[in-house]
Amino acid sequence: MPSNKDSNPLPASLRKGHKRFLRNDYASNEELFAHLADAQAPKVMWIGCADSRVPPERILGAEPGELFILRNVANIVPPLAADEASVGSALHFAVEQLKVNHLVVCGHSDCGGVKALSQLGKAPMDRMLASWVEYAVSVLEDNEGTTMESLTKANVIAQAERLLEYPCVLAAASSGQLSIHACYYDIRSGKVEQFNPEDGDWSHIA
Ligand SMILES: [Zn+2]
Repeated sequence: MPSNKDSNPLPASLRKGHKRFLRNDYASNEELFAHLADAQAPKVMWIGCADSRVPPERILGAEPGELFILRNVANIVPPLAADEASVGSALHFAVEQLKVNHLVVCGHSDCGGVKALSQLGKAPMDRMLASWVEYAVSVLEDNEGTTMESLTKANVIAQAERLLEYPCVLAAASSGQLSIHACYYDIRSGKVEQFNPEDGDWSHIA
């Protein structure tokens, strides 16, 4: 890895942004950062898409320390049997160690990962992308011919349900320690909706 920062700087916008962060956010919240330096106690784990347009802290107005975050392509929770340690280890840590009370799976509009899922087997695709979105193939099979929004929402519900395959999640949910939420973020309107399994409807969270 190159080590000379002068010859390989981060983009200027990010360096300026970091200066602003130190001058404003950090300076006015020094106590918070000092507190966070030694421990974290988030109540919520957020499983979202890696897409740059879906920043959970900004959308939810959350402070550092509030959300334990895992982001991947199309906010997928692989089956337990797949042994995907990245997802499994984060889930285990959040549920067993941090004892979060909420697991949120959130999809979003215009999701490239869900578009890839919809093209699975029909269009050439990167091998690794294909093998990743393959974890959600049952969602595709059950929702053939539907809109992207419906497919994305169906994917969110399926991934949220799949969380229960993980023994730590099942145990915590069964004991009442943990609630699981399926959400959808619309980039254009800025609104987050939540699925209500009782009536099958989605409603704005705010
Ligand atoms: Zn996405």
